[in-house]
Amino acid sequence: AGTLHVVATPIGNLGDFSPRAVETLKLVAAICAEDTRRTRPLLQQFGIDTPLIALHDHNEDEIAERLVVRLVAGESLALVSDAGTPLISDPGYRLVRAAREAGVRVSPVPGAAALIAALSVAGLPSDRFAFEGFLPAKAGGRRDRLQALAGESRTLLFYESSHRILDFLGDAASVFGADRHAVVARELTKLFETVLDGPLGALRSRIDQDPNQQKGEFVVLIEGAGDDEAAKLAEGKRVYAKLAEHLP
Ligand code: SAM
Repeated sequence: AGTLHVVATPIGNLGDFSPRAVETLKLVAAICAEDTRRTRPLLQQFGIDTPLIALHDHNEDEIAERLVVRLVAGESLALVSDAGTPLISDPGYRLVRAAREAGVRVSPVPGAAALIAALSVAGLPSDRFAFEGFLPAKAGGRRDRLQALAGESRTLLFYESSHRILDFLGDAASVFGADRHAVVARELTKLFETVLDGPLGALRSRIDQDPNQQKGEFVVLIEGAGDDEAAKLAEGKRVYAKLAEHLP
């Protein structure tokens, strides 16, 4: 059988495209890409003319089946996403799962991932962390998810887009408290890379006051709850449960 190579691409700076990534993409029979219109120009810059196959959330199951047939027959393929590491808030999970289930070798060509780049410069505890990806776009769903994380002691990481960054920080400040320490990592490895840190409330106002700080791509990192906060929350839950017993 062939190998499915899961290949990371840059998250902004083309210098982060590894020589092994380029070599691998040249050698495979085809490259599965999330959006072929975005991947083609990148490949062209590196002289890669391997055929592309579109693989996105909507067609992944169907395409995965056909790709696994090709892999089992002996072809090697690569999987890339628009930027960074495939499967990390990007398509590919179902293909990787199907390939492994068919006994096909799946091998990584690691490289950029925005969450790891952000964690490496945030100055927050990095021994234990929880990556939460994108929260639901609607306010209610977003607040519910944040609420469920309020007592989490690990460093929390989120992906967020420019049009929701202020709402996200506002909700986070109200759920975790305006004083909880956080870091906003924007446009990492790009021209306008900015890493801001401070209490959630102050960070939100700072970004609110500067439209330039609202542009681009964001990783938000929130320091985990301290012992006293976690204890308060547990006590609150205990009291609530006791009260609930007596409610009709
Ligand atoms: N697979 C990618 C990875 O490995 O990081 C993530 C893909 S996800 C669809 C895109 C999100 O990742 C953006 O909305 C943003 O939250 C984050 N992101 C990607 N590139 C970034 C960058 N250069 N700086 C900050 N965040 C970035």
